[in-house]
Amino acid sequence: MNSARCDLCHVISVWESKVKMKGRSLLIRTVASLATLVALGCGLIRQDEVGIEPERAKWVGVSDFAVPVLMYHRVCPLTELEAKSPLTRDLTVLPEDFEQQIKHLSDNGFVLLSVYDVQTALLTGGKLPEKAVALTFDDGYRDNFDHAFPILSKYRASATIFLVKNTVDDAKHLTWEMIRRMRSDNVRYGSHTVSHPDLTSLDDIQLDYELVESKRFLESKLREPVTALAYPAGRFDKRVTTQARSAGYLTAWDKGGGPVRPGDDPFRLPRVRVHGQTSLRDFERKAWSGYWERKIDSATQAPSG
Ligand SMILES: [Zn+2]
Repeated sequence: MNSARCDLCHVISVWESKVKMKGRSLLIRTVASLATLVALGCGLIRQDEVGIEPERAKWVGVSDFAVPVLMYHRVCPLTELEAKSPLTRDLTVLPEDFEQQIKHLSDNGFVLLSVYDVQTALLTGGKLPEKAVALTFDDGYRDNFDHAFPILSKYRASATIFLVKNTVDDAKHLTWEMIRRMRSDNVRYGSHTVSHPDLTSLDDIQLDYELVESKRFLESKLREPVTALAYPAGRFDKRVTTQARSAGYLTAWDKGGGPVRPGDDPFRLPRVRVHGQTSLRDFERKAWSGYWERKIDSATQAPSG
């Protein structure tokens, strides 16, 4: 089995290098992605070899999971001027509110996942904990390191940050040093494209560049597969999902919706937005939404009499 696995990995890696040399032919990359998934399903390659981690042994999972993937942007105090901007206020969760939210999850026994944990379960028919959420942060703001990371570390919470290639290392966003420091402590990364455009407005060549180049760049810097994508501003259509798949992503994430359920389309995955004005009560409703959705499902499916 081992040699079959190695042979298959070799074939896939040869395919992938041919893809790069041949100007990224859509057809070949689609075949390579499909082969990876088939090999994964057959157990010929390990999940971590395609960039998704094996389930953690400590979980007692359920196969009909319902997991809210929470979506944040900034976590920091607001200046007086920033507090007057409705957009900035909306994008910014105060550190004290963020800590209350994470403490609520921790106190109530929620398992805090990365999107790669959810991706693994979704793609392999695996299980996830009955009470779980995944934390995601879009855009890679520097305050994620300064204000969110200390709280994440305190509660040993996993999280995923979707990075925009062109803003890494600028004055307002994460540096590579911060990114690597957090990677060594449970934070994972996904792509949020090269320049954060509306992907539906691009021609095929620009679209391919935004998807492929951001993935290549992050993988070369992080030295690990980056197979999750977040659509900028949640903008996508059929053409975008098709090209995201052929670029080698395994999942792509929207900016709204409810909990992730088994059978969801891996390229139209929902998230649950946490706004700057989200009260703790609202947050609790969002965090518990998956748990209660499953309970309602099982109550309505229970045989009567
Ligand atoms: Zn964004």
